[in-house]
Amino acid sequence: MNIIHRAFSTPERTAIIANGKSYTYKELLSSSHAAARQLLDEKTDLHEARVAFMIKPGFDYVKIQWGIWRAGGIAVPLYHGSPPDAIQYILEDTKAEYLVVEKEYLAEFEKYTGSSSIRLIANDEFPADDGILPEIDSNRRAMILYTSGTTGSPKGVVSTHATIEAQITSLADAWEWSREDHILNILPMHHVHGIINVLSCALWAGATCEFLPKFDAKSVFDVLNRGDVTLFMAVPTIYHKLIAYWETLPAGERSDLYQHLSKLRLMVSGSAALPVSVMEKWKEISGHTLLERYGMTEIGMAISNPYHGERRPGHIGQPLPGVSVKLVDGDFEEVPEGDPGEILVKGANVFVEYWERPKETADAFTMDGWFKTGDIAIYDTGSYKIIGRSSVDIIKSGGYKISALEIEEILRLREEIKDCGVVGVADDEWGELVCAAVVLAGEGSELPADEIDQWIRTKLPPYKIPRKYIFLEDLPRNAMGKVTKKELKELFTNRMN
Ligand code: ATP
Ligand code: MG
Repeated sequence: MNIIHRAFSTPERTAIIANGKSYTYKELLSSSHAAARQLLDEKTDLHEARVAFMIKPGFDYVKIQWGIWRAGGIAVPLYHGSPPDAIQYILEDTKAEYLVVEKEYLAEFEKYTGSSSIRLIANDEFPADDGILPEIDSNRRAMILYTSGTTGSPKGVVSTHATIEAQITSLADAWEWSREDHILNILPMHHVHGIINVLSCALWAGATCEFLPKFDAKSVFDVLNRGDVTLFMAVPTIYHKLIAYWETLPAGERSDLYQHLSKLRLMVSGSAALPVSVMEKWKEISGHTLLERYGMTEIGMAISNPYHGERRPGHIGQPLPGVSVKLVDGDFEEVPEGDPGEILVKGANVFVEYWERPKETADAFTMDGWFKTGDIAIYDTGSYKIIGRSSVDIIKSGGYKISALEIEEILRLREEIKDCGVVGVADDEWGELVCAAVVLAGEGSELPADEIDQWIRTKLPPYKIPRKYIFLEDLPRNAMGKVTKKELKELFTNRMN
């Protein structure tokens, strides 16, 4: 049974809270049905037409996404924070046939559709419609999500209803979602983290998903302080921001906050490596050992620290239910325990194809059907630990393979260093040179490169020592808060030439 049909079993429960209003599953069903009717017009099926939509996270977002599914279309969520070029790229790449936008964006979006055959539709108030539409075939294509573009151009990842269902059920099972849950969402709705882990798991379980109109630390703490939220999920940069705000609070407020936060059932981090320092600080603030998990647009979530049991700092845990994982060398042979290898994944959670990229799709799988993640990990006494992405985080210098993440963890030990990113920059002599970009902690922090150099030599062997430092106000990041290392490399290359 798919996620929409499950909603019929909890009609009166609250599905969504947004902009101060609550909406039941019944309202979601009738509104999404009406949206489907509007999209279908006189047709009976959209036959996998690509329907792009730019709707702010909230009730209407779900109404349109479900409406597209109920009409037999492929949902292509757009992000309102994207620059026009990125939106144009997705509309052209998917060959979108429809584009649904908030009324306020209508004029702005005419520039994308003026010269093309895309049908531009305003998200409107529809009259509720309780009619019946046929159940969706689970092998139909359901969604195209674009990867974060951390390592290159974003690729359109195609999932079927069955893929999405496998991604949801694996998490619902591992993290024990129930209809009593209430999650606060602060993530954007164009990425697997927000769409699957937060929104779809909540709706699958018959639980409540509450949206904040816009992320700001104070509003997050205000909602969590109410005491009715059971779950929270975010990326490491968000936890970083929450910590920075907490540091401005007086002692009394901190202890009230601790009382409320510690009552949540689960707090999760993912999408990028969780610095150990953030994990430790969050424990002090909330009493929670953040559960770190690992996943990708292509596979949903694959590996997770346990819901019950020890969550090891710097580790991502064990494979989720229904997901097979192995670590392999360059010949796709499994590596011995403790050795680094590329993570390969197999299971019903794995995507179908990159949209209209048959070569990339073929290259992404081994002969026997394992998906190649491009991430390097080790298996160390019972759990996996990410070493980094083979393309940007594994620096090849002087014959060594060096983990950028390891050096970043060391740099963060210094109090004066708020943030950092390590990359390998092409060099004739060394192959790649280890280079570090450093963001200092606020006004008055001073830490000359020489001093970092002397200190880090006591922590790391000579071949891992950064050869160049640059000091930045902020690291370049994408919408998911991931450091865009390609940009960082370019920064170094430009400065060194
Ligand atoms: P692109 O594929 O366009 O370069 P991207 O890989 O960042 O972008 P996503 O699918 O959003 O796009 O991100 C998946 C990647 O995020 C993983 O391959 C991995 O490198 C990283 N990641 C996710 N969770 C973790 C984690 N817990 N620790 C470290 N890295 C993580
Ligand atoms: Mg990727």
